Amino acid sequence: MKIVDTHAHIHFPRCETDVEDIISRFKENGGTFLLNIGIDIEDSKKAIEYAEKYDFYAAVGVHPHESKNAGETFLQDLMKLAQDSKVLAIGEMGLDYYRNLSPKEVQKEIFQAQIDLATALGKPIVVHIRDAYEDAYQILKNSDLPDPPGIIHAFSADAEWALKFVKLGFFLGIGGPVTYPKNEKLRDAIKAVGIDNILTETDCPYLPPQKYRGKRNEPSYVKYVLEKIADVLQMPVDLVAEKIYKNVREVFSL
Ligand SMILES: [Zn+2]
Repeated sequence: MKIVDTHAHIHFPRCETDVEDIISRFKENGGTFLLNIGIDIEDSKKAIEYAEKYDFYAAVGVHPHESKNAGETFLQDLMKLAQDSKVLAIGEMGLDYYRNLSPKEVQKEIFQAQIDLATALGKPIVVHIRDAYEDAYQILKNSDLPDPPGIIHAFSADAEWALKFVKLGFFLGIGGPVTYPKNEKLRDAIKAVGIDNILTETDCPYLPPQKYRGKRNEPSYVKYVLEKIADVLQMPVDLVAEKIYKNVREVFSL
């Protein structure tokens, strides 16, 4: 069975220390594809380095928290980094009004600039949205998007929102929170969307599945997410894995 992690930060300090073991455990569990995600220019360079070293892929972008520090040349820098053959997507990018570490207007500006860059480069986007679904949706709906558009990572809204993003062509990134006992809302969203528009991810070191709550997350734990999705959709796990692998090839044109 092939398992995929479409959103990981294996180069972050909390993973770096034993990254070799993390990668081995992922591969032992069928880990076949991993997208290692950058959150600013320097971090994106590191994300690529690790993707090269362990033969996975990377995404380069400026996270909404970092948007106030984006710097004058961030678009040119991203464009340059995106030339690397390991870079499959632009992101993570988006809006985060929960922590609001950068002013809203700056977040929007940096988000829009990266969408436009991705469209020009013909690469899908990896979108982070927290407490900002309405504004993010308006921006995406009114933008010229790449084809296919990409992933709404760590999707955390309801079925109605899920269907709106799917209508724009997005895949929903589903991770550890789907295993949380109280998260019926997310499981209902998965039922509404079905297998054709979902992907599995960890967001490691963050968002571990229920079994490891309070601990560090890692790519091999994506299997718990896969099992929960199979349970929600009442499908055999290996069929879910197969479909999700097909979705990965579709979104990244592999
Ligand atoms: Zn992330």
